[in-house]
Parts: sequence; C-alpha cells; structure tokens
Amino acid sequence: ANSIFGAAGTTIFEAMSRLAAETGSINLGQGFPEGLEPREVIEAAARAMREGPHQYPSMMGTPALRQAVAANAKRNLGLDVDWEREVMVTSGATEALADAFFGLLDTGDEVIVLEPAYDSYAPIVRRAGAVPVAVRLTPPDWSLSLDQLNAAVTPRTRAIVINTPMNPIGKVFSAAELRSLADFVLAHDLVVIADEVYEHLVFDGRRHRTLFAIPEMRERVVRIGSAGKTFSVTGWKVGYITADAKLLGPIARAHQYITFTTPPALQAAVAFGLALPDSYFDGLRADLGRRRDLLLAGLRGAGFEVGDVAGTYFAVAAVGDLDPDRDDLAFCRRLTHEAGVTAVPISSFYGARDVKSHIRFCFAKTTDTLEEAVRRLTSWR
Ligand code: PMP
Ligand code: GLN
Repeated sequence: ANSIFGAAGTTIFEAMSRLAAETGSINLGQGFPEGLEPREVIEAAARAMREGPHQYPSMMGTPALRQAVAANAKRNLGLDVDWEREVMVTSGATEALADAFFGLLDTGDEVIVLEPAYDSYAPIVRRAGAVPVAVRLTPPDWSLSLDQLNAAVTPRTRAIVINTPMNPIGKVFSAAELRSLADFVLAHDLVVIADEVYEHLVFDGRRHRTLFAIPEMRERVVRIGSAGKTFSVTGWKVGYITADAKLLGPIARAHQYITFTTPPALQAAVAFGLALPDSYFDGLRADLGRRRDLLLAGLRGAGFEVGDVAGTYFAVAAVGDLDPDRDDLAFCRRLTHEAGVTAVPISSFYGARDVKSHIRFCFAKTTDTLEEAVRRLTSWR
C-alpha cells in the first residue's frame, strides 16, 4: 500500500500550502476559495447545528439533500433523476470517486484517465486492484486525440474518468467532444466516472454539459458533484453521486464501509444552498469570471503565457523561458521564495511526473489578494 499511497509523499497541494505558510507567500496553489462563502448557507449550517439532529443520517444521505441534488440537476441541466434510487451523498467528491472505483472495478480492469488529471484518481484505482491508463491532452489548447484514446483501449478497459470543467487546465469539453466521447464509450462498452465538481463554475455565458444528459449514456455515467466547490466551502467535504440504480448499488455498498455517512447539519445546509435561486449561481460565475479576468490580465502583463480558462477556478501558465531548467516544481519553489507567490506544478497531475511545462494558479481569491499577487509577480519579472 505504501508504494501506492506513499509514492509522492504528501500531496502537492499540502506541500505547497505548507511552503506558502512558512514563507508568508500568497497561496494561489491549493484550490480553495477566499471571500466567496455564501452567508445564507453558512447560517443554514449554524441553524441546523443548533437544532439537530446530530445522529447518523441514512447512509444514502438525507432525503432533503438527495431531493435537492435531483432538483438542482433538473433546473440547471434538465435532467430527470429519481432521488430515492439514483442519488447518494458522500463525504466529499474525493469519497465519491473512491466509492465508485472500489464499487465498480475488479482486479485487472483498466481505467482510462485523461491527463493532466486530478491527483486522487490513479492511486485509488490502483488500490482497487485496477490499472490507470493515461491518455494525454495536447497543449496549448489541451485537445483530445481520438486516435490516442482508441489506442489506449484493450479488452480489459472498464471505465474512463472525464473531468469537465477540468482541473488543472480550466478546459470545458465541447458538445462535439462529449459526443465523440459518448460514441467511444458506447463502442467499447465502458462506464464513465464523470467528475463534475466544477459544474457551476463555467464562464462567459457557457452552460455546463454532462454526458449524463445523452440518453444512451444515462445508464453508464456516474456523475459526481461537490458542495465544496458549489458553495466555496472546501472544508465541508460534502459530495454527491447521481447514477442509474444498477451502477449506484455497488457504489453504495463501498460507501457503507468507507464513511457510511456525512454530517447531518452540513447536509441540511447544502440542501438549502442547492435550492437557492439562479441569482446565486449566476452571481458566483460572474464574480469568479471577474477574478479570472484580473489574474489572467495580470499574469499576461507580467510576461506569463496563459491560455483561455472556460471553467474551474484555475489557470495554467507555461514555464517556458521563465525557468532556465524548465522544471515546474523548481519554478514554483523559486516563485514562492523570490516573488512571494505560490502556484502548484503541473507534473503532479501526471502519473509519470514527466510533464513539467506548466504551473497552476487558483484565482478564487479576493481582489486584494489577486492584485497583490500580480504586483509581486510583475516586480519579480
Ligand atoms: N475532483 C476534482 C477535479 C477536484 O478538483 C477536487 C477538489 N479539489 C475534488 C474532486 C475533490 O472534491 P472534494 O473536496 O469535494 O472531495
Ligand atoms: N482539489 C484541490 C486542488 O486541486 C486540492 C484538494 C487537496 O488539497 N487534496 O487544488
């Protein structure tokens, strides 16, 4: 187990946050928001904490939250979901991912992971006895090659993980890309682990698109969401899975032995939040969109090469000539010490750790924080 979970030491997010704290650097590394927590959702949690209940909720999650997850998906995406049979609450999307991998994979199964990939997928897939198979997106536009995808399939391929909007690159898969992915999944009889934790964080008038909405795909897609991202409360660790009952059954059996359940007051507050009017979700997108614009303009002004960001709260910048060794981790350490701004290296999002071309900044910070970070990066240059 140590060779799987211990391979990278502590996660890069933990490591860079610690370095930022030790050096007094502005932490744009680990993905967590600043100054975006909705007051009414915090109040709902406080109320639920005062009033209870405080004992184990149902292992599938409270009816109120499961109904709210289904209703939010109906309102936002037009999805028809049976909350009793098709929705389960988890302690964060991280647990949802683990439940899905442990519940659905058998020893020797292969799982296609699109890189750069969130760092928890591959270790849990391995620990489930399965094998992650990386298919890399191609910068600068992070396009997906169907040839590479087809070349990665074997008779053992069981699943593919699709994260849209995508951490760390801020990519949102287009309708055409999702259609090609759906055809690929159907042709090879796969299951999709759809990591959609950033579903509400899409910019410039875009709407979130999910493979779950494609009728032939509905029984094959495990759709995962996170209150941490939707309500800017990453420490709460409340996630949810929407999937056809035949897929959700084995996932729920894994969940009952992993966390079994999730704090009831937080479930109540998230149920309240998911029912907030559209103005909350539109406001979050608009606010984050402005923060994105501020950081992207600042980075470009300081001589960093950054592409477009369609969703998430992350932007990647090319290392290029800014670091003589073109080493992303060394560059992040140097920026922390010399400029007082901390980012995370993209190599941590690759199983082989060999792609060192970019570093990731989180822009879900206050205007003051972002402006100070830009000032520091500009004078460092
Ligand atoms: N998936 C992705 C792509 C993420 O970025 C994150 C959080 N950074 C998670 C899953 C985990 O979400 P949670 O905090 O709800 O466990
Ligand atoms: N998901 C967050 C990110 O990408 C970090 C979560 C963590 O620290 N494990 O930055």
